[in-house]
Amino acid sequence: MSNSSKETVYKEYKLEGPRRFKRKYEEKHEEVTDTVINTFLKYSGISSDEYAEFEKTYLESVKKVKPKCTEKRVEGFRKATGSNGFVAFYDWYVSQGQACGYCGISQDELYELFSKGKNKKLPLNNAVKRSSGTLEIERRDSENNEYSPKNCILACPLCNNAKSNLIDEDNWVLLFVEPMREYYKKLLGKDLENPNPKD
Ligand SMILES: [Zn+2]
Repeated sequence: MSNSSKETVYKEYKLEGPRRFKRKYEEKHEEVTDTVINTFLKYSGISSDEYAEFEKTYLESVKKVKPKCTEKRVEGFRKATGSNGFVAFYDWYVSQGQACGYCGISQDELYELFSKGKNKKLPLNNAVKRSSGTLEIERRDSENNEYSPKNCILACPLCNNAKSNLIDEDNWVLLFVEPMREYYKKLLGKDLENPNPKD
């Protein structure tokens, strides 16, 4: 097995979870009698050294993305790419670079604004809704509403909330992204680390 396909199999295993791997393995092969991890290593041809290396590279991001792998997203990405939906969704998510696809604000800058301490700027009241500042996974075309790499975008809570289902993507980018960036700059008291994504 090539190194990149070993990586894919590793991601599959980690994202789907050992229980799911065990079930799938037992459907296709025999009952798992050894530990699940040993069975996985034997079956995948991944050595324990390679496994340790993959853990170093991917474990942290896998932990972050795994809770976002909802059934609908995994199923949508599976259909759209014809490959493992967990891995397709994970690879897409990681490739988005932790920034709003519309205005470019980074996740770190959002956390700065939404921090719980005395520097907290948002939200403006103590409501729980949209109080974490986490980037949201938005579907661009609200008609087909599909989860696919093409139809999904990471959006900051402000872009997502303001656009809603009332302003289309082209007009949002054309008319509202610059003012949104100005608003963020004012709140942060500094320039944004990323440029406007459309430039
Ligand atoms: Zn934004």
